Amino acid sequence: MLALFTYLYYHFAMAKIITVQKGTKDILPTEMDSWHFIEDAANRVFSRAGFKEIRTPIFEATELFARGVGDTTDIVNKEMYTFEKSERSLTLRPENTAGVVRSYIENGMHRLPAPVKLWYKGPMFRYERPQAGRQRQFHQVGMEMFGIAQPTADVEAISLAVSYLNEIGLNDLDVEINSLGCPTCREEYKTKLKAILKPYLQDLCPDCQKRYEKNPLRLLDCKVEDCKAIYEKPEVKEVITSEFICPECHDHFEAVKKYLDVLGIKYSVNKLLVRGLDYYNRTVFEIKSNNLGSQNAVCGGGRYDSLVRNLGGEDTPAVGFAMGMERLISLLPAREAQKLDAYVVSTNQEEAIKLVGDMRKSGLSVDFDMTNKKFTKQLEKASKVARFAVILGEDEIQNGTVSVKNLANSEQISAKREELGSLIK
Ligand code: ATP
Ligand code: MG
Repeated sequence: MLALFTYLYYHFAMAKIITVQKGTKDILPTEMDSWHFIEDAANRVFSRAGFKEIRTPIFEATELFARGVGDTTDIVNKEMYTFEKSERSLTLRPENTAGVVRSYIENGMHRLPAPVKLWYKGPMFRYERPQAGRQRQFHQVGMEMFGIAQPTADVEAISLAVSYLNEIGLNDLDVEINSLGCPTCREEYKTKLKAILKPYLQDLCPDCQKRYEKNPLRLLDCKVEDCKAIYEKPEVKEVITSEFICPECHDHFEAVKKYLDVLGIKYSVNKLLVRGLDYYNRTVFEIKSNNLGSQNAVCGGGRYDSLVRNLGGEDTPAVGFAMGMERLISLLPAREAQKLDAYVVSTNQEEAIKLVGDMRKSGLSVDFDMTNKKFTKQLEKASKVARFAVILGEDEIQNGTVSVKNLANSEQISAKREELGSLIK
């Protein structure tokens, strides 16, 4: 009996706990340099364009996403992490546009001079099938700009995305754009689309059958082969690719294209690009990489002029984008681990610990051996982890100096302690 109890205790109490499978991941110290690299670049690039960072809560009222993302979307229908607490329905944010818009309204940012330019980074949560390039907790960096209806804002967004990607060394990417028109011209297009697809209704996938009623534009986004085949039929394709946007939307789109040309940003128009979220109007865009396999989009964005009003604010035009940070990192070359500036080598621990403290205060990254190993062992360790060994033998302690060994070329010089900062930097 006791043996059984002991067995059960150790088996269950001590069972190893691992990350939630599937779709979540540790970001380990070995990867952190890449994360800091893309995060620092975001701060630089967005700041240069006058954007301020905003951080909104990771969970919000479920209603925010139902209204803000749209209840005909996959995100709201299938992918949200929703839970009850004190009889309130809460949801882990699946994206950050709705949260930023809520904050913009709640904090009265419409009273600030337009444009209000915000950027963010952080984790998002979607319950979808994990696969290469798709996790359940992933990270996005993105921006939202409020108050500008002119096409210059659409182009600012696209060019900022491209600048950021270039800044982190990604140059070989395809920019795709499309115009979804406005609610008025889109309505006519939807009617035509439904008419031409009516005979095929029973052949569409169950999702598309629902989309047909609720949000026919999203039909074009379907990844199911049988549906895609139907959308390739000549008479269907003719409607899909027809020029449906009204003259105002047309002029807006032409201006976007003209400015992109002026900036030398290469793009292609993809008539099937409708984006997953309900709130877009006029310009939508995606940036794709050929080196990512089937989950090839690194950036998605567009104009969303009705969202602020839909979430209870004043009529405010807006445009934004979001990028998947894991996908960005997977496109970067692996970064070499950063070495420490210096490793203090000494068998006098009292002196070593003091010197290490002083050097860290002066801004250097420094470590030392806490177990007082043999001098040669310490030197070996230094050459693995640092650029310089700072040697503190009895002679040096006596005359108040240190020996500094450049571990790349083994050159060694004697120096005063107060010179260490400038010498090593
Ligand atoms: P997809 O068509 O790939 O599902 P989406 O339209 O759902 O994309 P958005 O909501 O526009 O994606 O998000 C913007 C970017 O965030 C995507 O282009 C992608 O890089 C990244 N992203 C979206 N979902 C995930 C996920 N589950 N795991 C990792 N990255 C993601
Ligand atoms: Mg998705």
